[in-house]
Amino acid sequence: MKSTSGVPAYRRVLLKLSGEALMGSDAYGINLEVLTRIASEIKSVTVIGVQLAVVIGGGNIFRGMAHAARGMDRASADYMGMLATIMNSLALQDALEKLDVPVRVQSALRFEQVVEPYIRRRAIRHLEKGRTVVFAAGTGNPFFTTDTAASLRGAEIGADVLLKATKVDGIYDRDPVKHPDAKRFNQISYNEVLERRLGVMDAASIALCRDQNLSVRVFNITNPGDLMRICLGENVGTLVKGD
Ligand code: UDP
Repeated sequence: MKSTSGVPAYRRVLLKLSGEALMGSDAYGINLEVLTRIASEIKSVTVIGVQLAVVIGGGNIFRGMAHAARGMDRASADYMGMLATIMNSLALQDALEKLDVPVRVQSALRFEQVVEPYIRRRAIRHLEKGRTVVFAAGTGNPFFTTDTAASLRGAEIGADVLLKATKVDGIYDRDPVKHPDAKRFNQISYNEVLERRLGVMDAASIALCRDQNLSVRVFNITNPGDLMRICLGENVGTLVKGD
């Protein structure tokens, strides 16, 4: 990966957007202004030729229902969480279409009147045709997270990198909110993330990236332009890769 002005550093990227990224400063749900800004950032990188797939989370909706889910059977609660990701996908699809970005949503759970089912080869074909693909419903399995879905889909579509969008500008040795002297890593290995339990993504998703040699870049999606800078090869946030 090298920085060359205007030329994308990656051919195909998997962007993991947490549901919380869509909330802005709201307590739950989708903030339209934030959604539109993220959609326009996605548009800008597709315009320079990056093939972009998105895995979207559901925390913004699902954690608002956490009280109702408490005491529920875990698998049922997790299916509710996956349904929340489908709602977010539809919102992102709508925001992208308003900006004339061609987009398809594919769901790991069948919901065919609304979105396409996940079909790996069809997803790749969409990407090749310049369509953004939004992967909904995580892995389709309870007891997993959308981070694991991002690693899985990233590996399946042959993404060059997994971009993990957060509200923090990288991985720190301690929680930077609680510890102002926390140190940010420029680069770190998968094993170090796991051994130090840095908690940026769950262990299953980091281990899958390690085993498939899919590098991960953790960055702050609330910084306008960072997604584009990364796609142009700039060293933004923290890179997670092999030793
Ligand atoms: N979920 C699941 N299997 C998956 C992906 C997600 O069961 O493969 C459920 C799980 O309950 C999770 C919720 O969906 O808490 C929302 O996903 P996640 O917490 O990963 O969303 P984010 O934190 O990224 O917004």
